[in-house]
Amino acid sequence: AVEVHAVHKWFGAQHVLDGVELTVRPGEVTVVLGPSGSGKSTLLRVINHLEKPEAGHVSLNGEPIGVRRHGERLKELSERAILAQRGRIGFVFQNFNLFPHLSVLDNVAAAPVATGKLTKPEAQALARDLLGRVGLADKADAYPRQLSGGQQQRVAIARALALRPGVILFDEPTSALDPELVGEVLAVIKDLARSGTTLVIVTHEIGFAREIADRVVFMDEGRIVEQGPPAQVLDHPEHDRTRDFLSKVL
Ligand code: ATP
Ligand code: MG
Repeated sequence: AVEVHAVHKWFGAQHVLDGVELTVRPGEVTVVLGPSGSGKSTLLRVINHLEKPEAGHVSLNGEPIGVRRHGERLKELSERAILAQRGRIGFVFQNFNLFPHLSVLDNVAAAPVATGKLTKPEAQALARDLLGRVGLADKADAYPRQLSGGQQQRVAIARALALRPGVILFDEPTSALDPELVGEVLAVIKDLARSGTTLVIVTHEIGFAREIADRVVFMDEGRIVEQGPPAQVLDHPEHDRTRDFLSKVL
């Protein structure tokens, strides 16, 4: 499980995360919605410790991320220990962020080799499997610039899977794509959801959220305003701010 406990994050005077509490159980799919600037990306970045919270903490399967307990206090882990933890948390970005100078196969195989988890031949065999899973077995030798945005994003998903993460975080994975390419990426994410991968997805694709989310979380001004099953939050929101937001995106 991913547990976000009493997390606060400030950027200067701006209180960007204001006491966020969130639990994502193993195999659960959580979709995070909210207006621009509400703190959705910051929340994902705090989960994998790309941003340090000023208060509160995150844990993955009971282990605090980025910190260790030191008596009553929490102490920052070494950069190396943080990187090792980050390997258990996949991250898929809006803009794919593939390595442009590596082939598709090596993009997927790189992390397990760099972290010493697999030998190069083992990692490449795994990468071929994963590329098959996202429908790109025939693109192993291509370079990112030779692929469409939808294909690049599917490579990014295969790359996130290569470290066998306990959870995968998606930050608006389809918002940089041409509309006709959105479906192929959502199909891959749906497939992961069905296979029981733990997912946290920031997206404005409400229909998709309705279809795959176990839980929808609505954020505004750094707070979780409400959360619950999609039928509750999307169809019978309790708060005016949620209703307001949904009326604009639906
Ligand atoms: P969007 O839907 O536009 O992606 P979001 O909900 O993901 O928005 P965040 O990116 O988390 O919002 O940003 C929340 C707030 O924190 C915004 O006001 C943003 O300007 C501010 N912010 C985010 N990152 C930084 C940073 N590194 N330095 C300063 N302010 C930041
Ligand atoms: Mg964002």
